Amino acid sequence: MPNRIKEEIERLKNERGAIILAHSYQPGVIQDTADFVGDSLELSRTAAKESAELVVFCGVKFMAETAKLLSPDSTVVLAAPDADCSLAACMSGADLREMKKKYPGAKAVTYVNSTIDLKAESWACCTSANSVEVVEAAPSDEVIFGPDRNLGTWVAENTGKKLHIWPGGCHAHSGADIRDLREKKAEWPDAEVLVHPESPSVFLWEADAVLGTGGMIRHVEGSRAERFIIGTEEGMIYRLETLFPDRVFVAAGKIVCDDMGFTTPELVLKALESRNNGIEIPDELADKAAAAVRRMTEIG
Ligand code: SF4
Repeated sequence: MPNRIKEEIERLKNERGAIILAHSYQPGVIQDTADFVGDSLELSRTAAKESAELVVFCGVKFMAETAKLLSPDSTVVLAAPDADCSLAACMSGADLREMKKKYPGAKAVTYVNSTIDLKAESWACCTSANSVEVVEAAPSDEVIFGPDRNLGTWVAENTGKKLHIWPGGCHAHSGADIRDLREKKAEWPDAEVLVHPESPSVFLWEADAVLGTGGMIRHVEGSRAERFIIGTEEGMIYRLETLFPDRVFVAAGKIVCDDMGFTTPELVLKALESRNNGIEIPDELADKAAAAVRRMTEIG
């Protein structure tokens, strides 16, 4: 990154009481620019704790919206305004209303990678890390789960509940090729294989551990292994290499989220300069969606 942009980002950040948050899938240069790097829930919690005047979020739309839900008094700006999530786009609040008619006794648990109107219709949200706990805590034997079918299938296998799963998916994780993982395993037989539960089941069957991004970091910290094969978006490799320079990481395959790559240092600077495109959440949805997110944080 040119020094001029780096210095201008620092200056404006201090002048405007801003913090920069970056998801672990963001490009390395953005992770290096951020004050905090983490998964979407960690970052939303950080935004709430820091109470900054301005939060520049480097990630995709649903993440900035979740941060805004938990920090309604901060101006939250998504650095790359066009960055969206193919998984969140798979299911709407109207889709969930239809499912509720079909399964009237079932509570709805929605992955945090979702739109605000879907969250507002849900009993609770969950992350990949606490999805099993939240589904177990739902006061019904049957649970509607969406929008990710791979995560839903994994949760169904790990709980005693009957799940009605919406057939959505993340294009990046769903498009991964199992032959790439098998090739890497043959090359690195001593490596531990860590796979994100948004991946197709065949990846999970071949993994040593199925974990969200925060769980992967904790797992590496506690592991004696020197090499790891990582089954999630490629930005995570940079994150792990930064945190654990003495270990070696390789991607399980080509898992790339184009929208995560939209953020550039120039856009971060623009977000700090303009402050104009703050996330707005309609009042009629904000309270209900925030309640679903808060219920998740209370459970786990
Ligand atoms: S990696 Fe998948 S789930 Fe994550 S933001 Fe990109 S499309 Fe959405």
